[in-house]
Amino acid sequence: MSARAPESADIAVVGGGIIGLAAARELLARRPSASVCVLEREPEIATHQTAHNSGVIHAGVYYTPGSLKARLCVEGAREMYEYCQRHEVASERCGKLIVATDDSELERLAELERRGLANGLADLRRVDAEEIREIEPHVRGVAGLHSPATGIVDFPGVARALAREIAGGGGTIATGCEVQSASRAGRRLRLRHSQGVTDAGYAVFCAGGWADRLAVASGADPDPRIVPFRGAFLRLLPARRHLVRALIYPVPNPTLPFLGIHLTRHINGEVLIGPTALVAGARDAYRLGTVHRRDLLETLAWPGTWRMLGRLWSTGITELRHAALRSAFVQAAARYVPELEAADVIGAFAGVRAQALGRDGRLVDDFVFSHTERALHVRNAPSPAATSSLAIARHVADQAERAFGAGG
Ligand SMILES: Cc1cc2nc3c(=O)[nH]c(=O)nc-3n(C[C@H](O)[C@H](O)[C@H](O)COP(=O)(O)OP(=O)(O)OC[C@H]3O[C@@H](n4cnc5c(N)ncnc54)[C@H](O)[C@@H]3O)c2cc1C
Repeated sequence: MSARAPESADIAVVGGGIIGLAAARELLARRPSASVCVLEREPEIATHQTAHNSGVIHAGVYYTPGSLKARLCVEGAREMYEYCQRHEVASERCGKLIVATDDSELERLAELERRGLANGLADLRRVDAEEIREIEPHVRGVAGLHSPATGIVDFPGVARALAREIAGGGGTIATGCEVQSASRAGRRLRLRHSQGVTDAGYAVFCAGGWADRLAVASGADPDPRIVPFRGAFLRLLPARRHLVRALIYPVPNPTLPFLGIHLTRHINGEVLIGPTALVAGARDAYRLGTVHRRDLLETLAWPGTWRMLGRLWSTGITELRHAALRSAFVQAAARYVPELEAADVIGAFAGVRAQALGRDGRLVDDFVFSHTERALHVRNAPSPAATSSLAIARHVADQAERAFGAGG
């Protein structure tokens, strides 16, 4: 499906993850006669976050009512189920249980319930200890929230379906094409990349873990910076998969934008435990020891990193323990599945979250989009951005049309 990057296009989308592909498909659907190209650095599409995640269609329980995350997740989840059905991509509305293991978590559970209902999740239901056991027989907790609309999906399969639609609509997907810079060339934007130059009417940058770098190279504010957070997963041995029927989550730490170590049935039948959340030495730190000098220096030189570490040092120590000690990692999940033991798991894969961190040390919670001349940048699209991708694509296309006009 890969082609060479064109010398000219009406619209160029940089990044062939689920967001870039969804944006290209949406822009092409709105203007079928436009030339749209996707420029992806790797030899294949969807090799980074899109292929290294929990595979969950989030229903929209957690997010601050009124935020972009809340709106785009709820809309995106509905569209994602429909899209999967239309394009024969595996997905299942299997439901999810959020478990409070002691009374100290009840207030936060009540806040999640309030948020979920405010976000329009009418089927969200508070459950007691007995109902928890009916939904997930191996889970123990004092109370829970059950979200029947949460589900699982093959996100790389969604990305492939989007790519097929783009190619079918006359768009170009160029892989092995690393965009290095963007500059104004008259009324157009000149993208220099590893295959040469593409002059575009405008560009949409969806570069995930490298989003800040391309935005800054285009003249945008360096704040916020992407700081990579590595998330490692374990896998339950097949003989122990019966411990988990669907999706089991803890009540999350309210100071972090991450959901905590959960147990998730994957669409291929495996059960994953994770992810951890450890600041990484590289934006592609799929292996724990991977360090890239530039990535590390950019993280260390960012004032926000030190402010965040100063504020969250005790959480950082817990995360270090989870990363270093499998027994501690398993213990975190055994809080709500007590039968779980270290011997029940083997190592799985890791993902690297592209998490925006403000200069002030704040982990940016909401999705963030910004403009430079003839370019729109997706600056922060962490979880649940895969769930929300089709709705994010509409938001991006609306913003692009407003900023650059329908003609590009
Ligand atoms: C551990 C983990 C668990 C998660 N769980 C979930 C979940 O259950 N549900 C959910 O909804 N979300 C989840 N997420 C979040 C979700 O995976 C991401 O929000 C989503 O995949 C982001 O998509 P993307 O297209 O922005 O990024 P990516 O998939 O990372 O794509 C960005 C692309 O840009 C390309 N690129 C970068 N720089 C350049 C350049 N210079 N030139 C050309 N191309 C470039 C990269 O090669 C890459 O292909 C999880 C994430 C992680 C890490």
